[in-house]
Order: sequence, then structure tokens, then C-alpha cells
Amino acid sequence: MNIGLFGGTFDPVHRGHMALARAALEQYKLHRVLFVPANIPPHKQQRPLLPFVHRFAMLVLATAEEKAFVPSLLEAPEEAAGAARKAGQEKPNYTPNYTIDTVRRLKRSFKAADKLFLLVGMDAFADIAKWHQAEALFRECEFVVASRPGYSLADVANALPESLRPHPEVTRPFHKQKATGDLVLKGATIHLLEDLHQPASATAIREAAAAGKALGRFVDAAVGEYIKKMGLYK
Ligand code: ATP
Repeated sequence: MNIGLFGGTFDPVHRGHMALARAALEQYKLHRVLFVPANIPPHKQQRPLLPFVHRFAMLVLATAEEKAFVPSLLEAPEEAAGAARKAGQEKPNYTPNYTIDTVRRLKRSFKAADKLFLLVGMDAFADIAKWHQAEALFRECEFVVASRPGYSLADVANALPESLRPHPEVTRPFHKQKATGDLVLKGATIHLLEDLHQPASATAIREAAAAGKALGRFVDAAVGEYIKKMGLYK
């Protein structure tokens, strides 16, 4: 089976996320996409997130209509608590959820024919070289990256960790090429999705919710209703 893993804060999940997952599902014949909200994301600790349970509940609502979309508890607080119990520790160690750890944990349940694709937006991919054990992550899975207008194939190649980055002579002609198609390098395979034309941003949604504005353009109706009912982002 081809399995997609889509991680993020999902605070809240919105139409941009769903468009990325759907495009990956269709173009790369994925059988399943796991939506994995991070309990403690490594890169976004500067602002308080909604509690995990609310972000997970919204994912459950947003994925309910699509059989292949699965809300995942791989990075739930209970995972850390379970691991601590197994190790005989008194308290769980709530360290950031590194994608490499999640990927390795998930792959332990894989069969030989299973293949993993990591789904990432271009803005997140631009920082990929700073991710924990980035080179190892490229060895463990192929990437599906959702491009954004203004990004070239060279931007994608130059975002790679140094050891995987092609020589500047090689990427020079890529500067004029739109970031689409497949980039297959020694140690990294990156599939590029064309711009999804979904400008939704979680930051803008939180601001709109705080101002009491309608959210229907950005989020699934059930997610919008949940935000309203629970009085989130006020
Ligand atoms: P925030 O505004 O809080 O930073 P975000 O949606 O960018 O929100 P995440 O929930 O962590 O943050 O995003 C999860 C993944 O979805 C990331 O890989 C991100 O690049 C991607 N993504 C976010 N918005 C879009 C969009 N409109 N179109 C395509 N991909 C997106």
C-alpha cells in the first residue's frame, strides 16, 4: 500500500490542507493519508496552540467523509504517556514530536510492499534542512510537496540538507523552471504538486474567528460549526 503521512499543527485544519491531501491521494495513488497533529511541534512553540484534543476533534470532522483520510494519534500526548509507562518511568517525557521518530514508529507496522510518502507544503519544506535528522527522513520516505506560486525547481533543490543538495551548476537551469514534476536525486525523491490555489491559512482563520467573522470559505462546515460551538480562538 502507498501510505501518505501528513503532519502539522492543524490549528485548525482547513481547505488548504484538504486540497493538498486530496491532490496527493489522486496523483500518487495513495491508499490512505494519515493526518497527524503534533502534540508539541518542534518548530512552532512561540504561540500557544489549542489543546491537542480540539485540534484532533476538528480533524475527525474534516476527514469523516473520505474513507482514505485517517485522523491519526501517532503524536498524541497518550503516545508519550504510554512509552513512559512501558519504560517504567513515573512521568512521560513530553519532548517535541520529531517527524523522523513518528515515521520510524509508523514504519514498524509496515509490510514489505508498503511505501511511505510524506506530505508537506512548500512553506514548511523551505525549512526542511533544519528538521531533526533531515537526511535520514529522506532515506525513510519519498516527499510530496505542494508548490506555491513564485517557487522554482531550484528553490526546492536548494532547500535540501547540504549533503543532498545538488551542485549550484546543476541547479542553475532550474531557476527558470516552475516547481512541478519529480525531482529524483541521490538520497532524495521529491514529487511536486502544482499550486493548489487554496490560499487558506490557519493564522487568518484564527483571526477571523476571534473577530466573529464567517469561516465557511476556509474550513469545512462541520469544523466551522465546532469552532463556533466550543467558542475557540476567542
Ligand atoms: P499556521 O498559519 O498556523 O502556520 P499552517 O496551516 O501553515 O498554519 P500547519 O497546520 O502546521 O500550519 O500546516 C500543515 C502543513 O500544511 C504544512 O506542511 C503546510 O505547509 C501545509 N499547508 C498549510 N496551508 C496550506 C495551503 N493553503 N495549501 C497547501 N498546503 C498548506
